[in-house]
Order: sequence, then structure tokens, then C-alpha cells
Amino acid sequence: MVQPYKHEPFTDFTVEENKKAFEEALKQVKEELGQHHDLLINGERIRTDNQITSTNPANTKQVVGTVSKANQELAEKAVQSASEAFKDWKKWDPRARAELLFRAAHIIRRRKHEFSAYLVYEVGKPWKEADADTAEAIDFLEYYGRQMIELKDGKPVESRPGEQNRYIYTSTGVAVVIPPWNLAFAIMAGTAIAPLVTGSTVVMKPASNSPVIAAKFVEVLEEAGLPKGVLNFVPGSGGEVGDYLVDHPKTALISFTGSRDVGTRIIKRAAEIQEGQNHLKQVIAEMGGKDTVVVDKEANIETAVDAIVVSAFGFSGQKCSSGSRAVVHEDVYDEVLEKVKERTEKLTVGNASEENVYMGPVVDQSAYDKIMSYMEVGKEEGRLVTGGKGDDSKGYFIEPTVFADLDPNSRMQQEEIFGPVVCFTKAKNFDEALEIANNTEYGLTGAVISDNRDHLEQAKYDFHVGNLYFNRNCTGAIVGYQPFGGFKMSGTDSKAGGPDYLALHMQAKTISEMF
Ligand code: NAD
Repeated sequence: MVQPYKHEPFTDFTVEENKKAFEEALKQVKEELGQHHDLLINGERIRTDNQITSTNPANTKQVVGTVSKANQELAEKAVQSASEAFKDWKKWDPRARAELLFRAAHIIRRRKHEFSAYLVYEVGKPWKEADADTAEAIDFLEYYGRQMIELKDGKPVESRPGEQNRYIYTSTGVAVVIPPWNLAFAIMAGTAIAPLVTGSTVVMKPASNSPVIAAKFVEVLEEAGLPKGVLNFVPGSGGEVGDYLVDHPKTALISFTGSRDVGTRIIKRAAEIQEGQNHLKQVIAEMGGKDTVVVDKEANIETAVDAIVVSAFGFSGQKCSSGSRAVVHEDVYDEVLEKVKERTEKLTVGNASEENVYMGPVVDQSAYDKIMSYMEVGKEEGRLVTGGKGDDSKGYFIEPTVFADLDPNSRMQQEEIFGPVVCFTKAKNFDEALEIANNTEYGLTGAVISDNRDHLEQAKYDFHVGNLYFNRNCTGAIVGYQPFGGFKMSGTDSKAGGPDYLALHMQAKTISEMF
């Protein structure tokens, strides 16, 4: 009997014992840094001359690890291996596949701080964010395992006298999984195990900024008993290996999470029918966000300030759900802005592998350069209230930054900056605030801070985002509690961690018999 699902609790680092345990994990992982990780194809480890070097964005001289880098020939091998393994894997009892996920969850739970410490080193996560990322990976394993057990006999349909109808879910085939680096553990693990538990086989190309944590996860799945060829691990360049896998005629399903540009490119390429392809490719593409916290005039100001600061600066604004826009009613605009400035100036920024800071670095040089170039745009388009400076001499550190008085159509309020920057726009009334909030091509998350019930009811219909939050921040969705995914150019709204997610990875089949 499987216990009911409950999300993995977060670690309270104010408890001395927890703090010590985490420091110990950081120390232990530091000693392991620099190891090499091979490709995994058909159960075989393959080492290539070409390698990806993963470094700590808080200390760019520190090598976290190296991974072998696949080319198209190896990507081809990986697809063939996944295609071969599919023949047996799809016939595994769905419950046995689910139990494999539960075993993997146990392995990770036992070594939780170790995985979180890797996230601190590899993508510069502060402790709290690293701990939440690992907890979410565990949640996906536990939740999708249970979902598969629920779906294994299909769903009920009606039958007439003398007839028996069944509606079942069948496995799809070879799935290509392309995750981003930001929720380096959770999204990578969640998007890989959803096809796996439904009986598809996987070729995973991890993000080049976070291949080490992905390699560690692959080891966990092997330890949990995953047969050879069922998951193939091929780090490589997006342009070379990514395109090749997306285009491959044997690819049946593509699960992508990342930027709008790459996502739309994948959707387009996947629609092209290749020679030898006799099926349509299913594409799940979860993409960017430009998410807004709306503050009404009747609102608890402390709640509003908290929601804006947490949404904007958690993991340095590098979440698809980050609240990079604050749209505030004119009656409370100045007060909210002043208090956000005060709070922001108290946030600590630094190297999380050395101390428990609120914000770490941004992920790499190109992210740093891009975000810093937006600082100049912000100064032209609006008013710099606090922050704005960066330092990339040791790692890619950027101050938490607030800009005010932005036009809703400005670049700062339209483009995904993906860094620690929040932009304020003033609204005359609540209707206008919602209009501004909806005025982007994205539709991922949003928050409304209001004590006016009428306005909250209105927002339920008029605020067009996949994840809408009231009187709280717009980040931090929990698997099985707040299924996650967006509208418009934010993606296909697959709702990761929700009750419909696995069905998107399968093909429903109707079987009808007369007797
Ligand atoms: P990205 O699009 O640069 O990369 C994502 C993945 O795509 C990486 O593994 C990359 O190597 C790969 N890739 C690059 N070019 C490719 C190609 N031509 N073909 C196939 N794969 C290719 O995104 P990123 O910088 O890793 O992540 C940040 C973005 O992800 C932001 O836009 C963020 O909003 C978004 N995101 C969305 C969600 C969501 O659930 N909606 C969650 C997390 C991140």
C-alpha cells in the first residue's frame, strides 16, 4: 500500500543542527568537485574527447565537474538504444515503474543535502533555493509514481448491454527531454521521469550550465534499477545535438523547458515530417515568463512588499515565475516602492558555497552581460531606485535592482530579463492594473495583493496566467498542490506536478468488444 502523497518538507536553516549538516555537505561535496561524468548510452558509459566544463558561477575558477559531450553520431546511437529498449520497457508493469521512482526518491532523500550542495556549487543557488529544488525533485518522483498507479487501468467509460468498452493509456515511444539550468534538479528530473514512468524511453540532453547534477540523477536512477537503454544521457550543444534529436524520425515526444526562442524553434521543427516518420510528434514546451505582482489600493502593504521582494529576488530573479513587474495602484505606489527599496537594500548577496546568503550570482557570463545591458535600458526608460551595479571579477554578482515609473510598453516591462531586477508601473485603478498585467506576450504566473473580494473575483477571470496567486508571492509552486504551467507564449500549459500531466505523455486507446 502506497502512503498518500505529501510534499517534501523544506529544511529550516535557522535550526543550528540543520545549518551544521548543510555546511558539512558543502564541505564533503567540495572535496568531490572536478570529477568527470561520461555519457550513458544503452547502459554503457562513453567518454569523449570533447567535454563540457561546469564551473561555479560564484567562483568561476572552481570546476564543479566535466562531462563528456555527445555529437550527432552519439545522439543517433542514443535514439536507437532508446527505441530498442522501448520494446520491453513499455511492457513493464506500470506499478513496477512507479516503484522504481519511489526507490529513487528514497535514495535522494537520504542524501538530500549532498544534492542541494551540488546545486549551490553548480548554479550558485542560495541554500534555501537549493533545498527547495531538491525537495521538488523528490516530489516529482513521489507524485508521478502515484499518478501512474492511478492511471494504470485507464479511466472508466460506459458500456451498453452486450458490449465492453475500455479506455486505457498506452506508452508513446522515444522521448527527447531538454531541460533548462535554472531548476537544475527539479525540472530536469521531473521532465525525465514523466515519460519514463509512462513507459516511454528517454534521451536526455541536459542544459550545458548544469550537466553535473543531471549526471548525478542518472546515477540514482541506475541505482534504483532502471534497465539499460531506457534512459540515455547525452550532454551536448543545443544547436547540434538538440536539433538532431528534435528532428529525428524516431522521436515521438519532446519535452522541452526553456526560453521562448528555443521552444518555438522546437515546435516548428517538430512539425516537419521526416523521411521514415509515420507519426506526429507530441511536443510539450514550457517557456519564459514576464510575471506581474499587482497591488491594489486596499491591500496589506507588508504582504505586498514581501510578495514583490520574494518574487523578484528569489534565486536572483532566475525563475520563469519570477515577479519582474510590480503594477501598483497610484494611492499606495510611493509607499510600496519606498518599502520595497528598504527591504531590497537589506538583502545579502554572495557566494552561497561559503555563507548562507539571500542571493547568489547569476548563472554565467552571457546572463551577466545581458542583465547588465538591461540596467542601461532601465535608466533610459525609467528611474533607478536602488541597485544597478554588478561585479564579475570573481563570480557573476549583480545587486538586487529596482526601477520605477516604467511605461507598460517599455522594453523593461515587456522582455524577460531573467535577473534580479523588478520594474514598477503605476496604475490609476484596478481595471487598469489588470490590463497592464496582461499586456505582455507571456502568461505564466501572477499575483494580486488585495483585500477587496470583488477585485479578487474579477482577477480570477481577467488575469490571464496559468498560475494565479492571491495575497502571496508568484513563485514557489509545489508539486501536487499548485500544478505549474503557463498560457500564451509561456508554453503549452502542460501543468507539471498536476493530475493531467502524465496523460500528456501517453496515447489514449479505446478498446470495444461485443459479446
Ligand atoms: P534555453 O532555451 O537557452 O535552454 C533550454 C535547453 O534547451 C537547454 O538544455 C539548451 O541546451 C537547449 N537548447 C538550446 N538550443 C537548442 C536547440 N536548437 N534545440 C534543442 N535544444 C536546445 O533556456 P535556459 O537559459 O536554459 O532557461 C531559462 C529559460 O527557461 C527562461 O526563459 C525561463 O523562463 C524558462 N523556464 C521556463 C519554465 C516553465 O516551466 N515555463 C521553467 C524554467 C525555466
